[in-house]
Amino acid sequence: MLVGVLALQGDWREHKLLLEKLGAEVLPVRRSQELDQVDALVIPGGESTTMSNLAKSFGLFPALRELVKHKPTLGTCAGLIMLSDKVQGAAEGQEFVGGLDIESSRNAYGGQSYSFEADVEISGESERVAFIRAPRILAVGKAEVIASLNGEPVAVRQGNLFGATFHPEITGGTKLHSLFLASIS
Ligand code: GLN
Repeated sequence: MLVGVLALQGDWREHKLLLEKLGAEVLPVRRSQELDQVDALVIPGGESTTMSNLAKSFGLFPALRELVKHKPTLGTCAGLIMLSDKVQGAAEGQEFVGGLDIESSRNAYGGQSYSFEADVEISGESERVAFIRAPRILAVGKAEVIASLNGEPVAVRQGNLFGATFHPEITGGTKLHSLFLASIS
């Protein structure tokens, strides 16, 4: 099983380390041929506008949109924004991969100084995670809520797709990545 981590921008190294700690073989991905090689993909946190621009210049959008139709994919923070079918506060001309039937709102908590750590419930168990210029999930369509904070959805799953507004890889939480890896057959 080979897990790709989209390595255009953002904290892809932290995801790589966490996935390796959980026993996965990991390939940093920057080209569409590499997307064909992997069995699953993580889209990390970072800055979705920059990630989107780079994905466009590298010509990755067609391969990414194809991949999310069937391969397990986890998007965290900017990665969740990239996977959202609807995004509030998108930059002009910003493109997304889509696939998750949710509406997210970029930078919904405010700027960097409104970043925080919190304990969230992931599939019924509590874990410390970081919210960094995090998006908020405003509406959930077909997706299932798998983590919440004060009653608000902060992670969802829809078939092969997982999305979280937070960064578990910064605080070392393993629950979300374990659920994701367990979904790869
Ligand atoms: N707010 C950022 C964006 O729009 C995401 C922040 C993050 O990934 N930590 O991409």
